[in-house]
Amino acid sequence: MAKRDYYEILGVSKTASEDELKKAYRKLAMKYHPDRNPDDKEAETKFKEAAEAYEVLKDSQKRAKYDRFGHQGMRGGQDFQGFSNANDIFSHFSDIFGGAGGGGFSSGGSGSIFDDIFGGGGQGRRQRTTGTPGQDLKVTLKLKLEEIASGTTKKIKLKKHKKCTTCNGTGAKDSASYQTCSVCSGAGEVKQVSRSMFGQFVNIAPCNNCSGTGKVITAPCVTCKGDGRVYEESTIKINIPAGVSDNSYMTMRGEGNAGKNGGPAGDIIVIFRELPHEYFIRDEDNIIYDLSISFPEAVLGTDVEIPTLNGRAKLKIERGTESGKFLKMREKGIQHLNRHGAGDQLVKISIRVPRKVNSKEKELLKELDKQPNIKVETK
Ligand SMILES: [Zn+2]
Ligand SMILES: [Zn+2]
Repeated sequence: MAKRDYYEILGVSKTASEDELKKAYRKLAMKYHPDRNPDDKEAETKFKEAAEAYEVLKDSQKRAKYDRFGHQGMRGGQDFQGFSNANDIFSHFSDIFGGAGGGGFSSGGSGSIFDDIFGGGGQGRRQRTTGTPGQDLKVTLKLKLEEIASGTTKKIKLKKHKKCTTCNGTGAKDSASYQTCSVCSGAGEVKQVSRSMFGQFVNIAPCNNCSGTGKVITAPCVTCKGDGRVYEESTIKINIPAGVSDNSYMTMRGEGNAGKNGGPAGDIIVIFRELPHEYFIRDEDNIIYDLSISFPEAVLGTDVEIPTLNGRAKLKIERGTESGKFLKMREKGIQHLNRHGAGDQLVKISIRVPRKVNSKEKELLKELDKQPNIKVETK
């Protein structure tokens, strides 16, 4: 049988752009997809034909060759390898569907990329998920500012469902404790064919009787009694990045409860709570610290040693420092979350006014207040 013209197959002109080719192919692929046309040989042929045409025309070199020599130019050599089955086609063409599947095609058969296109086929279609997903766990962690400042690691104990090691999560006593599911005959999924004004639709859903596994257990595992999971205490190590804020959270994927019958594990959601500090106040990634100095220190200047989130550090008070001034200690604050650098420690200066003075101090202060640079003239 003579081969049809590639442009004719795709229903585009010889000058069609890459985009037009892609659109045309996509339309045909959806129309003739085997899932939509079960046991329809003609549709299958058209489907493969379209795939072949697109494979050649999307490649500018192959297209140029085809334009000059026609099908003759495509025969033999390395230019075109025929597709043996639909799966090959999918592996070649996954790119036009935005990389929806990668390796999924080889194991799962044809289809997952088409779920996206058809919309609503959903996960049950080919990328069959068996079992019941495990539940998420929530953990609240109270953190000190010091721990938030540079990040920390915490180990916590919690009870969760874990995969049963006796049966490796299957829930069966041994490999002989199975029987093929009578509802789906071992397929793990059930097909429902429905007709609508748009044509015939095949809906494939996981089998409820066997939770999509295709098998039912006849003798349950003695350890987990068929659940495939055990409920026990676990120690979880949590790496907390620096700079987290109060009430923010982090998700630890797959660390939650194990799923049933091979279902995916849930997550652990770690919620952070910031403990109030004895003398530091957090302002985003900056830390505010109140420092009282004496009047003579403010006038003459001094060196002090004060606490920071990373131990004690020296701070120079310049002479003539006024009350209410903020002194900046660079990068002594909280490390930024997910970016380089840290906030500052801001030291708010206040001049301490003593409530009580003895008679000597009283005399000295009175004397001091008469001095020209100290005295305040009231207007
Ligand atoms: Zn079943
Ligand atoms: Zn078990």
